[in-house]
Amino acid sequence: MNNTQYELIIIGGGPAGVAAGVYAARKRIKTLLLTYSFESQSVVSEKIENWIGTVAISGADFAKNMEAHLRAYAGESVEIKTGDKVKTLRKIEGGFEVEMEKGEKFTTKTALITSGSVRRKLDAKGADIYEHKGLTYCATCDGPLYDGQDVLVIGGGNAAFETTAQLAAYCKSVTIINRGDTFRADPVTVEKVLSKPNVTAIKNAISLEVKGDKFVNGFVYKDATTNEEKNLDVTGIFVEIGLLANTEYAAGIVDRNPVGQIIVNPRTQESSTKGIWSAGDCTDGLYHQNNIAAGDAVKALEDIYNYLHTK
Ligand SMILES: Cc1cc2nc3c(=O)[nH]c(=O)nc-3n(C[C@H](O)[C@H](O)[C@H](O)COP(=O)(O)OP(=O)(O)OC[C@H]3O[C@@H](n4cnc5c(N)ncnc54)[C@H](O)[C@@H]3O)c2cc1C
Repeated sequence: MNNTQYELIIIGGGPAGVAAGVYAARKRIKTLLLTYSFESQSVVSEKIENWIGTVAISGADFAKNMEAHLRAYAGESVEIKTGDKVKTLRKIEGGFEVEMEKGEKFTTKTALITSGSVRRKLDAKGADIYEHKGLTYCATCDGPLYDGQDVLVIGGGNAAFETTAQLAAYCKSVTIINRGDTFRADPVTVEKVLSKPNVTAIKNAISLEVKGDKFVNGFVYKDATTNEEKNLDVTGIFVEIGLLANTEYAAGIVDRNPVGQIIVNPRTQESSTKGIWSAGDCTDGLYHQNNIAAGDAVKALEDIYNYLHTK
């Protein structure tokens, strides 16, 4: 057991965790930042073009800059530990205890959870081979690369329909396929999106195979009503079949929604448990992007500072 009593433990080193760390240092909050690594989800991106103030940056350089920014200001206030994952977060007298997978334990008055999420992966032959070669899990990030092309969206929820609407603005055609025979998205959204002349919907479609040579050039699915295999000629595939938040270690201590996202008050980022905040992709916030993760974490930090100094 490390005997330091931290004022704050930040879990995660993506844009949310790093933004919170930089602010914690500036506010001289005695902080421990625990992250498996500084590689955030967009580390695999060839080019991030919407990190405000930076015209374009690779995902790998983005991660390096994040770490460098935090280390430049961490000073004596923010300790950083990498290479291990948080296993459990539990309530103790006067605060919380964090236990790591390798067994180390730390105590703190407050905690900020920024451990992000992972996209639910497409289960189809070739999906792993063509990831980032025509198959993507982020339309906001990669959509504009498919200007004028025939693309496919896989999914039936609001995210899939919002992606379809966005792509329909500049792609030649957008086909949206759904496993079941009803879409989970709001009926109004479904109606509006499907009324666009370049959008087609296919239901009861079981994903079978992503086809291509160097890049995607087709997609094979089975029509569950006829058992017939069909091919779609598409050059881009956008998978929107859900997110899974990295919050298992906090399951018993904060309220989460069915996909594990921590339910927060959007004014302050406070969770259902006094003393625990959350920001970024692991929250139930409606939109998830790098800038949002960083901004929400800063909001949380302001609130944590007030809590530590006024309560
Ligand atoms: C392929 C792809 C491309 C994207 N491109 C863009 C883009 O161009 N622009 C944009 O704005 N957004 C983009 N996004 C979305 C963006 O990456 C996320 O919104 C952002 O990374 C969320 O940041 P975060 O800090 O909340 O979480 P994450 O980036 O997910 O970071 C979570 C951090 O927590 C750590 N961690 C996880 N579990 C534990 C644990 N148990 N213990 C300790 N540490 C843990 C991880 O190591 C990681 O450092 C993209 C997403 C993907 C998947």
